[in-house]
Amino acid sequence: MLILGGTSEARELAGSLPAFAVITSLAGRTSSPLLPAGEVRIGGFGGADGLAAYLRTQHIDVLVDATHPFAATISGNAAEAAGSAGVPLIVLRRPGWTEQAGDVWHRVRDLREAASLLPQLGHRVFLTTGRQGIAAFAEVDAWFLARSVEPPEPPMPGRLEVLLDRGPFTLAGERRLLAGHRIDVLVSKDSGGPGAKLVAARESGLPVVMVDRPPTPATAHTVVCVAEAVERLTTLRDAR
Ligand code: NAP
Repeated sequence: MLILGGTSEARELAGSLPAFAVITSLAGRTSSPLLPAGEVRIGGFGGADGLAAYLRTQHIDVLVDATHPFAATISGNAAEAAGSAGVPLIVLRRPGWTEQAGDVWHRVRDLREAASLLPQLGHRVFLTTGRQGIAAFAEVDAWFLARSVEPPEPPMPGRLEVLLDRGPFTLAGERRLLAGHRIDVLVSKDSGGPGAKLVAARESGLPVVMVDRPPTPATAHTVVCVAEAVERLTTLRDAR
């Protein structure tokens, strides 16, 4: 089995399958990734064709796309490669967030739309869209606190403080960040999972710019949690 990883769910899944031969693939974006149990390979495959060739040469019998909901290229490649190599594909994707009473959310289609909306909403921005998302805000006239695992690269906003950190984050910590930096707007991708920053924003009545997810490939069997993935994988194995 090949798990396309880069998320906490992918790590958890690899650790939940002692009876399976598991290889996890990581893109290689972070310098000290948290490694899952089992075999790990790092680096791109060379597009959908490269991934299909890997599935064939490694005799992979099931492909699990457990990548981040915003990693659209690899998910598209996974669907194409699984189809051409005749390998069943399971997509493990945590549900997105839903707005609750007290939230002041502005849903946008992409980072570009988020950047154009920002000046109407605030001037001290907490940007949580990850290192690769920061460039989209380079031309926005505001002060930014940007949190990412690895340092961002130009283009970047002129007034930027970078906070290098990796989740999960606590509610107390998120409250401190918002208050300590006098944040007046939060920008987030609709990644799902623990959302302490959203609770802290709600408590303070802060507006949130929420970037919608790209669509999931329609061909895949989608599961929403690790337990469901294990169940599906066990059923597939037992049917073979
Ligand atoms: P992406 O735009 O969908 O993928 C770009 C290229 O990176 C792919 O075409 C592929 O190269 C390679 N790649 C991506 N994931 C890979 C994997 N698990 N194993 C091997 N190659 C992979 O991806 P991204 O948004 O840059 O994200 C990169 C990784 O970081 C993903 O694995 C994702 O789970 C993780 N991540 C992403 C985000 C986010 O917000 N996008 C957040 C947290 C974690 P080839 O075409 O050469 O195969």
